[in-house]
Amino acid sequence: MTERPQSGTAVAVVGAGVIGLAVAWRAAAAGHRVTVFDPGPGRGASWVAGGMLAPVTEAWPGEEAVLELGEESLRRWPGFAADLRAEGFDPGLSLAGTVVAGFDRADAEQLEILAGYLHGLGREARLVTGRELRRAEAGLAGAVRAGLLVPGDLAVDNRRLLDALLGAARARGAEFVAESAATVSAGAVSTASGTREFGAVVLCAGAWSARLVPELAGRVRPLKGEILRLRARRGCLPPPRRTVRASVEGRPVYLVPRDGGELVLGATQYEAGFDDTVTARGVRELLEAAERIFPSVAEYELTEVTAGLRAASADNLPYLGALPGGVLAAAGHHRHGLLLAPVTADAVLALLDGKPLPPGAAAAHPDRTHSEERV
Ligand SMILES: Cc1cc2nc3c(=O)[nH]c(=O)nc-3n(C[C@H](O)[C@H](O)[C@H](O)COP(=O)(O)OP(=O)(O)OC[C@H]3O[C@@H](n4cnc5c(N)ncnc54)[C@H](O)[C@@H]3O)c2cc1C
Repeated sequence: MTERPQSGTAVAVVGAGVIGLAVAWRAAAAGHRVTVFDPGPGRGASWVAGGMLAPVTEAWPGEEAVLELGEESLRRWPGFAADLRAEGFDPGLSLAGTVVAGFDRADAEQLEILAGYLHGLGREARLVTGRELRRAEAGLAGAVRAGLLVPGDLAVDNRRLLDALLGAARARGAEFVAESAATVSAGAVSTASGTREFGAVVLCAGAWSARLVPELAGRVRPLKGEILRLRARRGCLPPPRRTVRASVEGRPVYLVPRDGGELVLGATQYEAGFDDTVTARGVRELLEAAERIFPSVAEYELTEVTAGLRAASADNLPYLGALPGGVLAAAGHHRHGLLLAPVTADAVLALLDGKPLPPGAAAAHPDRTHSEERV
């Protein structure tokens, strides 16, 4: 791949999680001169995340704007991944799909509602019995009585994605500065080494965004999530082929397979400020729930326990657009940052180039107040 001459705007991207890196890559590929600030690029919540690209199975009632943006981004995912691959970087997109497992009558009713919702969106979803689900995914527990097959809800290997975006952004000429931004404004970023001026500043600092711009204070907050990584040992059943989701004692749990026998198991959700320690209770809850769904997990090697900070907003929509001071916000992606990376990058590029926003992105403008309560 050849680097394009960069003649566009000098753009600063503050924060290099999945959002900042996607913005940096797309902006650099479009010819902008991009500088990315982050002391630890490719980490943050994005390093921790499960990897589901699932707008509907993750949406809560009343979140139509979140759903619309998520569906739009899901449609963009195959093209986004193909563009990365065309540049020589494979983000590890899995097209295997998702299954949702139910244990009792109440769960089965929820699955019927979910199926109806998906059909209403023109999406494929098939209700099956527990036995049929076990035929599709060997190793699911005998207690699973009902299931829903959702082939269009995809998954991505978050760490391969981050590596791919870092590589692609660098290859397109983005400069990386391994420093924290101390202050940002519409035209400048200051770090411990000094102040640099830019034509546009894009804030992608996830849960830390409100520390940098007063306009997001009280609107973006950290929401802790713990997640486990396991690996099938010799002689164990391999992980499911698809993402498996279920609700166990009212708590949502998911198992997302990765290549090479790895299984990502998530996730807890706590209000804990900026604390990101992993608790014994979190690990126990996740393992107990996973065993109820896929008993063989008990024999797996537990390879990693991690916690990350989602950037939660009150209405679960991110903030995409110019803040009153002129900084462009791309922050507050909550449970959906991986899913929303393609549409967010396209929205920021449209803002930089004065082009129309992608469908669904206007609802995420930071001046919205209709659906928001302060957090
Ligand atoms: C347990 C868990 C599971 C999840 N599962 C999923 C999932 O399955 N699917 C999905 O779509 N989403 C999921 N998410 C949500 C997803 O991880 C986030 O929405 C996404 O990672 C947000 O990306 P981001 O780039 O905005 O923030 P982050 O990835 O948090 O990155 C922010 C970056 O900003 C940098 N930064 C902070 N302050 C400064 C500063 N002053 N100067 C410079 N840089 C700074 C940080 O170092 C960090 O690298 C999950 C999250 C968690 C915690």
